[in-house]
Amino acid sequence: MALRANSVAHGGALLLELLDRLLANYYWAWNDQALAVFQALPNFDGNPYEAVRGLTPADRERLDQQGLIGQAQQALDGVDAYLATAAGERRMAYFSAEFGIHECLPLYSGGLGVLAGDHLKSASDLNVPLVGVGLVYRRGYFHQKIDQHGMQQEEYPLLSPLESGFHLANDPHGRPARVTVPLNDHEVHVRVWEAAIGRVPLYLLDTDLDENEADERFITSHLYGGDREMRIRQEIVLGIGGLRALRALGYDRLETFHLNEGHAAFLCLEAIAECRTPEEPLEQTRARAAGRVVFTTHTPVPAGHDVFPPDMVCRYLGPYGERQLHCSQQELLALGGAHVDGPSFSMTELALNVARGANGVSARHGEVSRAMFPGRPIDSVTNGVHHLTWTSPPMRQLYDGLLPGWRDDPKRLEDSHLIPDEDLRVTHQRNKERMIERLNQLQPEPLDANVLTFGFARRFATYKRAGLLFHDPERLAKIANGRVQLVVAGKAHPQDEAGKRLIQEVIRLGAASPMTAVFVPDYDLALGKLMVAGVDVWLNNPRRPMEASGTSGMKASLNGVPNLSVLDGWWIEGYDGTNGWAIGPDAPPPASPEDEDERDADSLYMLLGERIIPEFYDSPGEWTQRMKRAIGVSPRFTTHRMVAEYARRFYRL
Ligand SMILES: *Cc1c(COP(=O)(O)O)cnc(C)c1O
Repeated sequence: MALRANSVAHGGALLLELLDRLLANYYWAWNDQALAVFQALPNFDGNPYEAVRGLTPADRERLDQQGLIGQAQQALDGVDAYLATAAGERRMAYFSAEFGIHECLPLYSGGLGVLAGDHLKSASDLNVPLVGVGLVYRRGYFHQKIDQHGMQQEEYPLLSPLESGFHLANDPHGRPARVTVPLNDHEVHVRVWEAAIGRVPLYLLDTDLDENEADERFITSHLYGGDREMRIRQEIVLGIGGLRALRALGYDRLETFHLNEGHAAFLCLEAIAECRTPEEPLEQTRARAAGRVVFTTHTPVPAGHDVFPPDMVCRYLGPYGERQLHCSQQELLALGGAHVDGPSFSMTELALNVARGANGVSARHGEVSRAMFPGRPIDSVTNGVHHLTWTSPPMRQLYDGLLPGWRDDPKRLEDSHLIPDEDLRVTHQRNKERMIERLNQLQPEPLDANVLTFGFARRFATYKRAGLLFHDPERLAKIANGRVQLVVAGKAHPQDEAGKRLIQEVIRLGAASPMTAVFVPDYDLALGKLMVAGVDVWLNNPRRPMEASGTSGMKASLNGVPNLSVLDGWWIEGYDGTNGWAIGPDAPPPASPEDEDERDADSLYMLLGERIIPEFYDSPGEWTQRMKRAIGVSPRFTTHRMVAEYARRFYRL
């Protein structure tokens, strides 16, 4: 008896130790063996940290008897083997204001963050010697509830770094790294959390320290919350603090800093400060610093670029400019294309001024950016998605069986024609049923797994035109009635009243329509994964040329879900006539937004009534062909392709 109790206690402790070791690296988020271990835990609901914390001794005993120790040990061996081959010295740092690694880590708010998370995962898989740098938002991406008026309500989960697999990052002497960051004539203290994303360390800066004034402790609290004052403080911490943190951690041989959007562009100032001597003309120091920075812009319209009033920049960074950059206020402002009483200080201008290379995120976005910043050499690298994150579990199994090697080399998916029709249909139907089962729990109107289902999920920014499908409700009803259902999801920025009203409007239009149209609350990575695999058609109809790239459609394509999209962003490169449909022509939009809506809605209804609905119900063979073509083009839109392209063309590795 005693012996048995002992071995059980021992087994429970061992299991816990193995689970903790699996949780210490976010590789579990795209490693099927590790995921299977967590899915075996009682109360697993997407967050393995909570599931492991919630285990009782009785649970552990039962799991031990079910053989979970062996399974966990095997998963851990896989993780260890993966990590053992990590490249040595890190030579690149990737800066981003948000990172979407997994739904249980709310450090992202949309496409930019998801892209950054996918970038780190592919860098890990491809063994690109990179580190990530961001901010640790205690109150990051909010949960969305919809009240009885269709109004969005926000709830902010509280992130505890210690309970999310993070630890304090140590300096070379083994002490937790600390740096200070200049804000006016004051220094804010910053500590650094480390999260392991496979082979890539991600450093997250934190000002929530006793040494800081109360308001400074909140700097790293909210993701894009607060006003411009808060925003400039966050960006100073991210850019200047980020580079200082890397130095404090012992990274003194980093060769390239990659800025994912302008939010971290104050790094450029610190890169200048690092090699500044008072004797040298500022222009020369700038040119040397620029040799170490590459910059990716994501914003296709002037109004979207991050800018600050010149006096605010002088107030926060004037003393730093004088002491560290040995420059006047005019010179400081000029780096961001600003001057006193003149235009605002632009983070994009700063990054373009102090970078050796810059790029947009699709071929079209590159063109648009060059037109927006004439004379600047702006190239393009089309975005992608991490295929192991975004391919649904049933599809992963299908590809494992039929296109072996696709995990390491997604180009294998180009052979999607080898997938038998029936297998693809059955697997997709399984995805669809999985999604509908879940969505029917989240909203009241039942969805039907036999009806052609459209998905639309994105941030509710008005340019995405979430309501376009309802442009002419009567015409839509005639075409779609009983034959189409629509699933919509998306959050509006908490301060974006127009976006919130748009959610309300879309819910109202959906409820009024005879067609089944549901709004599913709380769009996040988890809901995204379900939807991009479970719907039959992925709908995207932004105003041109606002969709710099768009990535949700790439996720759909990976899962054999054809896109129905305006020709903007990635779809100009992705659409080949056989793998989905193009709404409207590839031509500049009419001058008036109303005419643009009219033209695109007309095209949308025409495609629905004459092409899509008939093909789905009457020509299943053709439909399956289209699904295979969607899969076939998807390798070009993976972050494996994208990161390899950055490495070759921009990172000088
Ligand atoms: C992929 C993704 C996005 C970005 O999608 P777009 O097509 O660029 O709008 C935004 N939010 C979440 C949760 C995502 O998964």
